[in-house]
Amino acid sequence: MSGVNTVVIVAGGRGTRVSTSPNLTPKQYQDLNGKTVLQRTIDHFINHEEIHHIQVVIHKDDCDIYKNTTLPDAKLLEPVFGGATRQQSCAEGLIALSKYNPDKVLIHDAARPFVSYDIITNTLLKISAGKCALPATKIADTIKRANAQSVVEETVARDNLYLAQTPQGFIYNEIHNAHLKARKEGLSNLTDDAAIAQWVGMDVDLVDSEATNTKITTIDDLVNAKKILDVTQQFNIPDLRVGNGYDVHRLIDGDGVILCGIKIPSDKKLDGHSDADVAMHALTDALLGTIGAGDIGSHFPPSDPKWKGANSDQFLIHACKLVREKNGTITHMDITIICEFPKIGPFRETMRENIAAICNMPVERVSIKATTNEEIGSIGRGEGIASIATATAVFMP
Ligand code: MG
Repeated sequence: MSGVNTVVIVAGGRGTRVSTSPNLTPKQYQDLNGKTVLQRTIDHFINHEEIHHIQVVIHKDDCDIYKNTTLPDAKLLEPVFGGATRQQSCAEGLIALSKYNPDKVLIHDAARPFVSYDIITNTLLKISAGKCALPATKIADTIKRANAQSVVEETVARDNLYLAQTPQGFIYNEIHNAHLKARKEGLSNLTDDAAIAQWVGMDVDLVDSEATNTKITTIDDLVNAKKILDVTQQFNIPDLRVGNGYDVHRLIDGDGVILCGIKIPSDKKLDGHSDADVAMHALTDALLGTIGAGDIGSHFPPSDPKWKGANSDQFLIHACKLVREKNGTITHMDITIICEFPKIGPFRETMRENIAAICNMPVERVSIKATTNEEIGSIGRGEGIASIATATAVFMP
Protein backbone atom coordinates (compact mmCIF):
# COMPACT_ATOMS: atom_id res chain seq x y z
CA MET A 1 0.00 0.00 0.00
CA SER A 2 1.50 3.32 -0.96
CA GLY A 3 1.24 6.79 0.57
CA VAL A 4 1.19 8.23 4.06
CA ASN A 5 -1.45 6.48 6.17
CA THR A 6 -2.65 8.10 9.35
CA VAL A 7 -5.25 7.61 12.04
CA VAL A 8 -7.19 10.00 14.24
CA ILE A 9 -8.25 8.39 17.52
CA VAL A 10 -11.05 10.33 19.12
CA ALA A 11 -10.59 10.15 22.90
CA GLY A 12 -12.16 13.40 24.04
CA GLY A 13 -15.43 11.99 25.37
CA ARG A 14 -16.27 12.09 29.07
CA GLY A 15 -17.62 8.51 29.04
CA THR A 16 -20.05 9.16 31.86
CA ARG A 17 -22.03 5.98 31.27
CA VAL A 18 -19.03 3.88 32.34
CA SER A 19 -18.20 5.97 35.36
CA THR A 20 -20.06 5.41 38.60
CA SER A 21 -19.51 8.97 39.78
CA PRO A 22 -19.12 12.21 37.82
CA ASN A 23 -15.48 12.58 38.96
CA LEU A 24 -14.43 9.10 37.95
CA THR A 25 -12.00 8.31 35.18
CA PRO A 26 -13.44 8.57 31.64
CA LYS A 27 -13.93 5.17 29.99
CA GLN A 28 -10.95 5.47 27.62
CA TYR A 29 -8.62 5.70 30.63
CA GLN A 30 -10.22 2.87 32.59
CA ASP A 31 -8.05 -0.15 33.20
CA LEU A 32 -8.61 -3.06 30.87
CA ASN A 33 -6.46 -5.89 32.25
CA GLY A 34 -3.28 -3.94 32.81
CA LYS A 35 -3.55 -1.25 30.13
CA THR A 36 -6.01 1.54 29.58
CA VAL A 37 -8.74 1.08 26.98
CA LEU A 38 -7.04 3.86 24.97
CA GLN A 39 -3.59 2.23 25.13
CA ARG A 40 -5.04 -1.04 23.85
CA THR A 41 -6.70 0.85 21.00
CA ILE A 42 -3.51 2.75 20.13
CA ASP A 43 -1.44 -0.48 20.22
CA HIS A 44 -3.40 -1.98 17.33
CA PHE A 45 -2.39 0.93 15.10
CA ILE A 46 1.22 0.99 16.36
CA ASN A 47 1.44 -2.70 15.46
CA HIS A 48 0.09 -2.22 11.94
CA GLU A 49 3.04 -1.58 9.63
CA GLU A 50 0.89 0.35 7.12
CA ILE A 51 0.01 3.05 9.68
CA HIS A 52 2.58 5.85 9.85
CA HIS A 53 1.18 8.52 12.20
CA ILE A 54 -1.31 8.29 15.06
CA GLN A 55 -3.06 11.46 16.23
CA VAL A 56 -5.01 11.13 19.46
CA VAL A 57 -7.55 13.84 20.30
CA ILE A 58 -8.08 14.26 24.05
CA HIS A 59 -10.15 16.40 26.39
CA LYS A 60 -8.20 19.31 27.84
CA ASP A 61 -8.89 18.02 31.37
CA ASP A 62 -7.24 14.69 30.55
CA CYS A 63 -3.68 15.94 29.90
CA ASP A 64 -2.22 14.41 33.06
CA ILE A 65 -4.00 11.09 32.88
CA TYR A 66 -3.06 10.76 29.20
CA LYS A 67 0.62 11.40 29.97
CA ASN A 68 0.60 9.08 32.97
CA THR A 69 -1.06 6.13 31.26
CA THR A 70 -0.03 6.26 27.59
CA LEU A 71 3.32 4.90 26.42
CA PRO A 72 5.34 6.97 23.95
CA ASP A 73 5.96 5.57 20.49
CA ALA A 74 7.63 6.90 17.35
CA LYS A 75 4.30 6.79 15.49
CA LEU A 76 2.32 8.48 18.25
CA LEU A 77 2.08 12.27 17.84
CA GLU A 78 1.55 14.75 20.67
CA PRO A 79 -2.17 14.69 21.48
CA VAL A 80 -4.36 17.64 20.53
CA PHE A 81 -7.42 18.95 22.35
CA GLY A 82 -10.87 18.20 21.04
CA GLY A 83 -13.98 20.33 20.81
CA ALA A 84 -17.42 20.16 22.37
CA THR A 85 -18.70 17.39 20.09
CA ARG A 86 -17.19 14.29 18.52
CA GLN A 87 -17.38 15.97 15.13
CA GLN A 88 -15.45 19.02 16.36
CA SER A 89 -12.83 16.74 17.93
CA CYS A 90 -12.37 14.84 14.66
CA ALA A 91 -11.85 18.11 12.84
CA GLU A 92 -9.10 19.11 15.31
CA GLY A 93 -7.36 15.77 14.76
CA LEU A 94 -7.56 16.14 10.98
CA ILE A 95 -6.21 19.69 11.09
CA ALA A 96 -3.28 18.60 13.30
CA LEU A 97 -2.36 15.87 10.80
CA SER A 98 -2.16 18.21 7.83
CA LYS A 99 1.55 18.92 8.27
CA TYR A 100 2.30 15.24 7.61
CA ASN A 101 0.63 15.42 4.17
CA PRO A 102 -1.44 12.26 4.68
CA ASP A 103 -2.88 10.39 1.73
CA LYS A 104 -5.31 8.32 3.76
CA VAL A 105 -6.82 8.76 7.19
CA LEU A 106 -8.72 6.40 9.44
CA ILE A 107 -10.93 7.87 12.16
CA HIS A 108 -11.39 5.59 15.14
CA ASP A 109 -13.17 5.61 18.48
CA ALA A 110 -10.84 5.32 21.48
CA ALA A 111 -13.43 3.04 23.07
CA ARG A 112 -13.07 0.27 20.46
CA PRO A 113 -10.03 -1.57 21.83
CA PHE A 114 -10.64 -4.83 19.93
CA VAL A 115 -10.14 -3.50 16.39
CA SER A 116 -8.24 -6.19 14.50
CA TYR A 117 -5.32 -6.10 12.09
CA ASP A 118 -7.62 -7.32 9.31
CA ILE A 119 -10.22 -4.57 9.83
CA ILE A 120 -7.47 -1.94 9.58
CA THR A 121 -6.02 -3.59 6.47
CA ASN A 122 -9.37 -3.98 4.73
CA THR A 123 -10.37 -0.39 5.48
CA LEU A 124 -7.07 0.91 4.07
CA LEU A 125 -7.52 -1.26 0.96
CA LYS A 126 -10.98 0.21 0.36
CA ILE A 127 -9.56 3.76 0.55
CA SER A 128 -6.76 2.70 -1.82
CA ALA A 129 -9.52 1.86 -4.28
CA GLY A 130 -10.67 5.49 -4.01
CA LYS A 131 -13.65 4.87 -1.72
CA CYS A 132 -14.82 6.10 1.66
CA ALA A 133 -14.81 3.01 3.89
CA LEU A 134 -17.26 2.10 6.65
CA PRO A 135 -16.63 -1.12 8.60
CA ALA A 136 -19.96 -2.63 9.53
CA THR A 137 -21.65 -5.88 10.50
CA LYS A 138 -24.97 -7.13 9.24
CA ILE A 139 -27.74 -7.14 11.83
CA ALA A 140 -28.67 -10.69 12.80
CA ASP A 141 -31.26 -10.00 15.51
CA THR A 142 -34.87 -9.16 14.85
CA ILE A 143 -35.42 -5.41 15.15
CA LYS A 144 -38.47 -3.98 16.91
CA ARG A 145 -39.64 -0.42 17.18
CA ALA A 146 -41.41 0.42 20.44
CA ASN A 147 -43.21 3.50 21.69
CA ALA A 148 -42.28 5.58 24.75
CA GLN A 149 -44.20 3.15 26.98
CA SER A 150 -42.05 0.21 25.77
CA VAL A 151 -44.90 -1.28 23.82
CA VAL A 152 -43.79 -2.87 20.56
CA GLU A 153 -45.30 -1.13 17.58
CA GLU A 154 -43.64 -2.82 14.64
CA THR A 155 -41.02 -5.27 13.42
CA VAL A 156 -38.47 -3.43 11.33
CA ALA A 157 -37.31 -5.22 8.19
CA ARG A 158 -33.63 -5.91 8.81
CA ASP A 159 -32.65 -6.47 5.18
CA ASN A 160 -29.85 -4.08 4.30
CA LEU A 161 -29.49 -2.90 7.90
CA TYR A 162 -25.95 -2.67 9.27
CA LEU A 163 -24.25 -1.69 12.52
CA ALA A 164 -21.66 1.00 11.76
CA GLN A 165 -18.24 0.74 13.42
CA THR A 166 -14.90 2.48 13.22
CA PRO A 167 -12.21 2.95 11.93
CA GLN A 168 -13.93 4.73 9.09
CA GLY A 169 -11.53 5.48 6.28
CA PHE A 170 -11.15 8.35 3.84
CA ILE A 171 -8.88 10.07 1.37
CA TYR A 172 -7.39 12.62 3.75
CA ASN A 173 -8.01 15.76 1.70
CA GLU A 174 -11.64 14.84 1.01
CA ILE A 175 -12.67 14.30 4.64
CA HIS A 176 -10.53 17.21 5.86
CA ASN A 177 -12.33 19.56 3.45
CA ALA A 178 -15.73 18.06 4.30
CA HIS A 179 -15.12 18.70 8.01
CA LEU A 180 -14.03 22.30 7.36
CA LYS A 181 -17.13 22.88 5.23
CA ALA A 182 -19.38 21.48 7.97
CA ARG A 183 -17.66 23.74 10.51
CA LYS A 184 -18.06 26.77 8.27
CA GLU A 185 -21.76 26.06 7.80
CA GLY A 186 -22.36 25.65 11.53
CA LEU A 187 -23.02 21.89 11.42
CA SER A 188 -21.50 20.34 14.53
CA ASN A 189 -23.39 17.27 15.69
CA LEU A 190 -23.14 14.60 12.97
CA THR A 191 -22.34 11.43 14.92
CA ASP A 192 -19.89 9.82 12.54
CA ASP A 193 -17.56 10.76 9.72
CA ALA A 194 -19.34 8.65 7.12
CA ALA A 195 -22.35 10.95 7.70
CA ILE A 196 -20.16 13.98 6.96
CA ALA A 197 -18.81 12.32 3.82
CA GLN A 198 -22.38 11.65 2.68
CA TRP A 199 -23.41 15.20 3.56
CA VAL A 200 -20.91 16.53 0.98
CA GLY A 201 -22.04 13.94 -1.57
CA MET A 202 -19.35 11.27 -1.27
CA ASP A 203 -20.26 7.60 -1.65
CA VAL A 204 -19.49 5.42 1.37
CA ASP A 205 -18.73 1.72 0.82
CA LEU A 206 -19.21 -0.91 3.51
CA VAL A 207 -16.26 -3.00 4.70
CA ASP A 208 -17.15 -6.42 6.06
CA SER A 209 -16.22 -6.15 9.75
CA GLU A 210 -16.16 -8.29 12.90
CA ALA A 211 -18.70 -8.32 15.74
CA THR A 212 -15.79 -8.40 18.21
CA ASN A 213 -14.90 -4.79 17.26
CA THR A 214 -17.29 -3.66 19.93
CA LYS A 215 -17.53 -0.22 21.54
CA ILE A 216 -17.24 0.16 25.29
CA THR A 217 -20.12 2.40 26.31
CA THR A 218 -21.46 1.11 29.61
CA ILE A 219 -20.09 -0.49 32.78
CA ASP A 220 -21.39 -3.84 31.45
CA ASP A 221 -19.37 -3.37 28.24
CA LEU A 222 -16.23 -2.81 30.29
CA VAL A 223 -16.90 -5.88 32.42
CA ASN A 224 -17.49 -7.97 29.29
CA ALA A 225 -14.31 -6.65 27.68
CA LYS A 226 -12.36 -7.72 30.77
CA LYS A 227 -13.93 -11.18 30.58
CA ILE A 228 -12.93 -11.53 26.93
CA LEU A 229 -9.36 -10.56 27.81
CA ASP A 230 -9.35 -12.85 30.86
CA VAL A 231 -10.16 -15.84 28.70
CA THR A 232 -7.62 -14.99 26.03
CA GLN A 233 -4.96 -13.96 28.50
CA GLN A 234 -5.55 -16.99 30.72
CA PHE A 235 -6.51 -14.98 33.77
CA ASN A 236 -4.18 -12.08 33.31
CA ILE A 237 -1.05 -13.98 32.40
CA PRO A 238 0.21 -12.05 29.36
CA ASP A 239 0.21 -14.11 26.19
CA LEU A 240 3.99 -13.97 25.96
CA ARG A 241 5.70 -16.33 23.56
CA VAL A 242 9.36 -17.07 22.99
CA GLY A 243 10.74 -18.55 19.77
CA ASN A 244 14.23 -19.82 19.09
CA GLY A 245 16.17 -20.29 15.88
CA TYR A 246 19.44 -21.88 14.83
CA ASP A 247 21.36 -21.75 11.57
CA VAL A 248 24.79 -22.59 10.25
CA HIS A 249 26.48 -21.88 6.93
CA ARG A 250 29.83 -22.98 5.54
CA LEU A 251 32.66 -20.48 4.95
CA ILE A 252 34.27 -20.56 1.50
CA ASP A 253 36.72 -18.30 -0.33
CA GLY A 254 35.07 -15.01 -1.14
CA ASP A 255 34.98 -11.26 -0.72
CA GLY A 256 33.29 -10.66 2.63
CA VAL A 257 30.95 -12.18 5.21
CA ILE A 258 27.39 -10.83 5.49
CA LEU A 259 26.04 -10.95 9.06
CA CYS A 260 22.88 -9.11 10.19
CA GLY A 261 22.88 -7.47 6.76
CA ILE A 262 26.33 -5.92 7.24
CA LYS A 263 29.18 -6.97 4.97
CA ILE A 264 32.36 -7.57 6.99
CA PRO A 265 35.59 -7.43 4.97
CA SER A 266 37.16 -10.90 4.72
CA ASP A 267 38.78 -13.22 2.19
CA LYS A 268 35.91 -15.62 2.96
CA LYS A 269 32.17 -15.56 2.45
CA LEU A 270 29.27 -17.62 3.71
CA ASP A 271 28.02 -20.23 1.28
CA GLY A 272 24.30 -20.69 0.76
CA HIS A 273 21.47 -20.25 -1.67
CA SER A 274 20.55 -16.74 -0.50
CA ASP A 275 23.17 -14.34 0.88
CA ALA A 276 23.61 -16.98 3.64
CA ASP A 277 23.25 -14.46 6.46
CA VAL A 278 23.14 -17.03 9.30
CA ALA A 279 22.26 -14.45 11.95
CA MET A 280 19.23 -13.18 10.07
CA HIS A 281 18.15 -16.72 9.26
CA ALA A 282 18.31 -17.76 12.91
CA LEU A 283 16.35 -14.65 13.91
CA THR A 284 13.74 -15.27 11.19
CA ASP A 285 13.22 -18.80 12.55
CA ALA A 286 12.95 -17.45 16.10
CA LEU A 287 10.19 -15.05 15.03
CA LEU A 288 8.35 -17.77 13.13
CA GLY A 289 8.68 -19.87 16.29
CA THR A 290 6.58 -17.38 18.29
CA ILE A 291 3.58 -18.14 16.06
CA GLY A 292 4.29 -21.77 15.19
CA ALA A 293 4.57 -20.83 11.53
CA GLY A 294 7.16 -23.42 10.46
CA ASP A 295 10.69 -22.45 9.50
CA ILE A 296 12.42 -20.22 6.99
CA GLY A 297 12.74 -23.10 4.53
CA SER A 298 8.99 -23.68 4.45
CA HIS A 299 8.36 -20.02 3.55
CA PHE A 300 11.32 -19.54 1.21
CA PRO A 301 12.31 -22.97 -0.14
CA PRO A 302 16.04 -23.10 -1.03
CA SER A 303 14.99 -25.12 -4.09
CA ASP A 304 13.22 -22.02 -5.48
CA PRO A 305 15.61 -20.20 -7.87
CA LYS A 306 13.87 -16.94 -6.89
CA TRP A 307 15.86 -16.85 -3.60
CA LYS A 308 19.29 -17.37 -5.21
CA GLY A 309 21.60 -14.65 -3.87
CA ALA A 310 18.59 -12.96 -2.19
CA ASN A 311 19.07 -10.40 0.57
CA SER A 312 17.93 -12.07 3.75
CA ASP A 313 16.24 -8.92 5.06
CA GLN A 314 13.12 -9.83 3.08
CA PHE A 315 12.85 -13.12 5.01
CA LEU A 316 13.08 -11.18 8.27
CA ILE A 317 10.55 -8.53 7.16
CA HIS A 318 8.13 -11.32 6.21
CA ALA A 319 8.48 -13.03 9.60
CA CYS A 320 7.88 -9.73 11.46
CA LYS A 321 4.79 -9.11 9.34
CA LEU A 322 3.40 -12.59 10.13
CA VAL A 323 3.88 -12.05 13.88
CA ARG A 324 2.20 -8.64 13.74
CA GLU A 325 -0.66 -10.01 11.67
CA LYS A 326 -1.35 -12.34 14.59
CA ASN A 327 -1.60 -9.23 16.81
CA GLY A 328 1.88 -9.88 18.20
CA THR A 329 4.06 -7.11 19.57
CA ILE A 330 7.70 -8.11 19.15
CA THR A 331 9.29 -7.09 22.43
CA HIS A 332 12.87 -8.34 22.15
CA MET A 333 15.36 -10.07 19.86
CA ASP A 334 18.63 -11.64 20.94
CA ILE A 335 21.17 -13.05 18.49
CA THR A 336 24.37 -14.94 19.25
CA ILE A 337 26.91 -15.39 16.46
CA ILE A 338 29.40 -18.24 16.92
CA CYS A 339 32.57 -17.97 14.87
CA GLU A 340 36.39 -17.86 15.12
CA PHE A 341 36.50 -14.99 12.61
CA PRO A 342 35.73 -12.32 11.45
CA LYS A 343 35.72 -10.13 14.58
CA ILE A 344 32.11 -9.09 15.31
CA GLY A 345 32.79 -6.41 17.97
CA PRO A 346 33.60 -3.50 15.62
CA PHE A 347 30.37 -4.15 13.65
CA ARG A 348 28.03 -5.00 16.51
CA GLU A 349 26.35 -1.58 16.86
CA THR A 350 25.87 -1.20 13.10
CA MET A 351 24.31 -4.67 13.05
CA ARG A 352 21.95 -3.79 15.91
CA GLU A 353 20.85 -0.62 14.17
CA ASN A 354 20.31 -2.49 10.91
CA ILE A 355 18.23 -5.27 12.49
CA ALA A 356 16.23 -2.69 14.48
CA ALA A 357 15.50 -0.70 11.30
CA ILE A 358 14.50 -3.78 9.28
CA CYS A 359 12.20 -5.03 12.05
CA ASN A 360 10.85 -1.58 12.97
CA MET A 361 12.08 -2.04 16.55
CA PRO A 362 13.76 0.29 19.02
CA VAL A 363 17.49 -0.49 18.96
CA GLU A 364 17.56 -1.13 22.71
CA ARG A 365 15.28 -4.13 22.12
CA VAL A 366 17.77 -5.77 19.77
CA SER A 367 20.75 -7.61 21.24
CA ILE A 368 23.71 -9.02 19.32
CA LYS A 369 26.41 -11.10 20.97
CA ALA A 370 29.32 -13.09 19.64
CA THR A 371 31.50 -15.89 20.88
CA THR A 372 34.15 -18.17 19.44
CA ASN A 373 33.85 -21.93 19.64
CA GLU A 374 37.22 -22.17 21.45
CA GLU A 375 38.74 -23.84 18.34
CA ILE A 376 36.63 -26.91 19.03
CA GLY A 377 34.92 -28.76 16.18
CA SER A 378 34.08 -27.54 12.70
CA ILE A 379 33.05 -24.03 13.78
CA GLY A 380 36.22 -23.88 15.89
CA ARG A 381 38.29 -24.77 12.83
CA GLY A 382 36.72 -21.84 10.98
CA GLU A 383 34.83 -24.03 8.51
CA GLY A 384 31.59 -22.14 9.07
CA ILE A 385 29.59 -19.71 11.18
CA ALA A 386 26.61 -20.64 13.36
CA SER A 387 24.01 -18.46 14.99
CA ILE A 388 21.29 -18.92 17.55
CA ALA A 389 18.52 -16.39 18.15
CA THR A 390 15.64 -15.81 20.52
CA ALA A 391 12.60 -13.66 19.78
CA THR A 392 10.03 -12.60 22.36
CA ALA A 393 6.57 -11.37 21.46
CA VAL A 394 3.41 -10.54 23.37
CA PHE A 395 0.09 -11.28 21.70
CA MET A 396 -3.15 -9.39 22.07
CA PRO A 397 -6.49 -10.97 21.40
MG1 MG B 1 20.31 -20.43 6.41
